[in-house]
Amino acid sequence: MITFKDVNKYYGSFHVLKNINLHISKGEVVVIIGPSGSGKSTLLRCMNYLEAISEGELLVNDVKVNDKSTNINELRRKIGMVFQHFNLYPHKTVLENITLAPIKALGVPKEEAVQTALFYLDKVGIADKANSFPSQLSGGQQQRVAIARGLAMKPQIMLFDEPTSALDPEMIGEVLDVMKALAKEGMTMVVVTHEMGFAREVADRILFVDEGRILEEAVPADFFANPREERARQFLSRVL
Ligand code: ADP
Ligand code: MG
Repeated sequence: MITFKDVNKYYGSFHVLKNINLHISKGEVVVIIGPSGSGKSTLLRCMNYLEAISEGELLVNDVKVNDKSTNINELRRKIGMVFQHFNLYPHKTVLENITLAPIKALGVPKEEAVQTALFYLDKVGIADKANSFPSQLSGGQQQRVAIARGLAMKPQIMLFDEPTSALDPEMIGEVLDVMKALAKEGMTMVVVTHEMGFAREVADRILFVDEGRILEEAVPADFFANPREERARQFLSRVL
């Protein structure tokens, strides 16, 4: 579903992504780990064209992301993204937050959008919060709304950029549980996280990114038991 071929990206003269080659298949859960500033968010943001690559080729669903003829809105509709900060509209209810894009961007009739929203709110375990405002919810609940909002667009891929990093420890589990359930259902997911337990349990594959390169790529059992690269070993000794 996602293919990087010899991709490089620069911010001005700063070489942030270095010769990235990567293929992610339908139904795969790929977890990206690595030190702060190594390029993890940039890698993720290139996938839905929040950032442009500088060189190489990036295909998402066989569509060239960096082609002028590509309909970027069309592409983004197929890719849900969940950020560290939930980015909910504060003056809209939970239900309105979730139905806004399906109604405005997809032209879904309001009744249907509401039904879909309620279905996903139930799925993330907060159907009773439909008429609340974001400020009335805990951080974990707000992040689950953000996930439901992504799912309501019926995406083919979900991207998560440190979705639990802004949460109090007791709320991390409830968000990870929703993500685990999603993975079990076969959603294609790319997840940047520092939650090594989640990575070990849920990932089909781990990518270790360091200084803009994919330094190591392995199944979790191999990666955690025996990282090949010294940098990966150092990183794990600090986070585990
Ligand atoms: P990570 O998510 O792994 O912490 P990022 O992808 O956010 O890393 O950033 C990688 C590097 O690129 C960092 O050094 C960061 O300061 C730099 N960077 C990120 N975004 C920009 C930007 N818009 N302009 C210039 N430099 C940036
Ligand atoms: Mg980041």
